[in-house]
Amino acid sequence: MKLWCATGNAGKLREFRRAAAQAGIDIDGIPNFRDIPECIEDGVTFTENAILKARHYAAYVPGPVFADDSGLVVDALDGAPGVYSARFAGPGATDEDNNRLLLERLRDINDRRARFVCVIALLDRGQIPGHGQIKATFEASVEGEILRAPRGPGGFGYDPLFYYAPYSCTFGEASEEQKLAVSHRGQAFRKMLASLAA
Ligand code: IMP
Repeated sequence: MKLWCATGNAGKLREFRRAAAQAGIDIDGIPNFRDIPECIEDGVTFTENAILKARHYAAYVPGPVFADDSGLVVDALDGAPGVYSARFAGPGATDEDNNRLLLERLRDINDRRARFVCVIALLDRGQIPGHGQIKATFEASVEGEILRAPRGPGGFGYDPLFYYAPYSCTFGEASEEQKLAVSHRGQAFRKMLASLAA
């Protein structure tokens, strides 16, 4: 089976490809992604944004396409950065900018509880803008806490700050396989595969 993955985030695509390979599924990115007008992600929930992205990029692929919207939800920040995770420190922010701002906002806070959330929206076909049918959405999360300094070279985004107690390390220190086994993205992706197989 072949699926198209609507993302310009290299870290996400790498993780989806690895998870798909484990299940014998072929995943392609959107051809010429950089030349396609960007999707306006103005939803207020992960689910709304995942559906917006799947619909937007469906126009550029010939078959089933999925998009994820994901992010970090920090209890002490009332759920921020949430759907603004990619641009927490402003438009064009890098992972380092976002991590720095997160540490600043949490400087005097002892409650460091946080979770990653991922919603995947699956659309049954591409090519006709806005007309593919959303087959389903799949949501998952993983609980952790935010450290006071980054640890580990792996992953992307907030991974070096996200401490996962069962592994006694951050997602930046875990291997990609270890992360996928428990992560929001790995779990949501496996839910989607189970539904496709059903
Ligand atoms: P999106 O591309 O609009 O869904 O934004 C996702 C953003 O959330 C990323 O740019 C990261 O900042 C953050 N994020 C989502 N998933 C992860 C993850 O698995 N590890 C670290 N950061 C993540």
